Parts: sequence; C-alpha cells; structure tokens
Amino acid sequence: MKLAVVAVAALLLAAGVASADEFDFFYLVQQWPGSFCDTQAGCCFPDTGKPAAEFGIHGLWPNYAKCRPAAAVAGDDDDVVVEMVVDGGAAVERHHQRRRQKCWPEYCNDGNKLRPWEIKDLVAELDANWPTLSCKSGKSFEFWSYEWKKHGTCSGMGQHGYFAAALELKKRHDLAAVLAGAGIVPSDDESYSLGSIRDAIAAATGAVPNLECNRDAAGETQLFQVYQCVDRSGKKLVDCQLPMQGKCRDKVKLPTF
Ligand code: 5GP
Repeated sequence: MKLAVVAVAALLLAAGVASADEFDFFYLVQQWPGSFCDTQAGCCFPDTGKPAAEFGIHGLWPNYAKCRPAAAVAGDDDDVVVEMVVDGGAAVERHHQRRRQKCWPEYCNDGNKLRPWEIKDLVAELDANWPTLSCKSGKSFEFWSYEWKKHGTCSGMGQHGYFAAALELKKRHDLAAVLAGAGIVPSDDESYSLGSIRDAIAAATGAVPNLECNRDAAGETQLFQVYQCVDRSGKKLVDCQLPMQGKCRDKVKLPTF
C-alpha cells in the first residue's frame, strides 16, 4: 500500500503535477485603482460600473518561504542558454544552464475551472471588492477565474472557501482608511514616505506588509499594490519576511481615483 502511494506520488511528479498544498504562506494582494488606471496603459471599468475608491483584491497567492531552483519543482526545466563567445580568435558556441527560480506554485489543476454556481452567494461582495480594471473583457468573473486557475488551485482550498477567505481577510482592514488615519490620503500632488505607509499598515494590522509600486503616465513612482502575508490557514496575518524588490522609491505618490 505504502509503495503504491509512493509510486503514484513519483508518477505525479514526473508528469509535472504540482502538489496543491505545497506552499508556506499566502500573499493577499490588493491594488490601488488610481495607480492601475493612471499608467500609460490605462484601465477600463467593469460592467458593474466604476469601483469605489478603495483597494481592490488582486489575488490570494500561495507562496514559498524560500525560492527554489525551477528544476526542483515538478515539470520545470532550467533554461539552456546558448552564447557565442570568442575563444582564441574563433567564435565558439557555449551552452550553459541558467538556474530559473520558482517562488510560488501555480496552475496546480487546469481541469478545475471556476464554476459560477460555486460562488453564487459571494458575487455581490466579489463585484464590490474584487473588480477587474483590465480592458480585456470588463467581466470580473474572468479575472476571478484566472486567479483561481493560476493561484487558487494551489491553495488546498475549495472554490467557495478560497474566495470567501480572500473576502474575509480584506474585510478585516480597510487599507485606504488605515492610510487616511495616518494622513496618507489620495492626492495628485503630494508624495509620502514609503516607510510611513508600511508603518501605518503594520501598526493597524499587526503585521508588516510588502509594498509594490508602478509608474504613472508621467513616470512618477506611486504605490500600486499592498502584499499582506497570511499563514497557511488563510486566516492569520503575519509579518512578511521576504524582502520585495517592489520598484518603490523612498517617496511615492498615492494618486486619486
Ligand atoms: P497575475 O498578476 O495574477 O499573474 O495576473 C493577473 C492577470 O489578470 C493579468 O492577465 C491581467 O491582465 C488580468 N487582470 C484582469 N483584471 C485585472 C485587474 O484589475 N488587475 C490586475 N492586476 N490584473 C487583472
């Protein structure tokens, strides 16, 4: 019996099927709509209308505490880099491996598509808290389906549980209100210190977040996404331990929406 389990696990690994519960913590990622929309690419509002001027959910992402060489993750090979180098006057081809890193599991079960009836009772809350701003379709359901397929299938949760967990976490802290409480209000002129944003969120939530920035159409750096770390239960906020190269500067904007 034991042997059979091991054999099946080995077969799954060889077939490149990532295990759904192999991760260390979640990132709850929320995006500031003002910073999504004022970029060169711009944005579109979903068919439910202009979202509120609040942070919106981007996703709940299982993550590894330590990145792993891609080859150690089932089904992922390192890149082979072919380089022409001049060696003693003659051009020769040199092949070497570039170690790719995997920092999270993804697409753990492509056959497990999001079924509308599974999240029927959550749709109103999802429309309000997890709206799409992409110009692809204007349908938030497509955004939720994508997030479920890429990240949710690796969470070890069921469809309803996954979306309910993200909504529950978001509900606990209104990040825009937390920032406003520290005098950090949306403005098209003002800049704020990145440290003051991180400190305000850490003080209000009890956990240090990671922050990611992007650039507005004029090239100014602005707060784009807040990453809150959540333990494997999907319920408890914890300090983010992994430093993030989030393209921020010491001073960032928080544009109006
Ligand atoms: P991820 O960052 O989860 O790997 O990819 C996000 C995908 O969802 C992209 O393909 C993006 O085009 C799509 N998408 C749809 N709506 C949104 C949105 O409001 N925000 C973001 N960041 N991506 C969205």
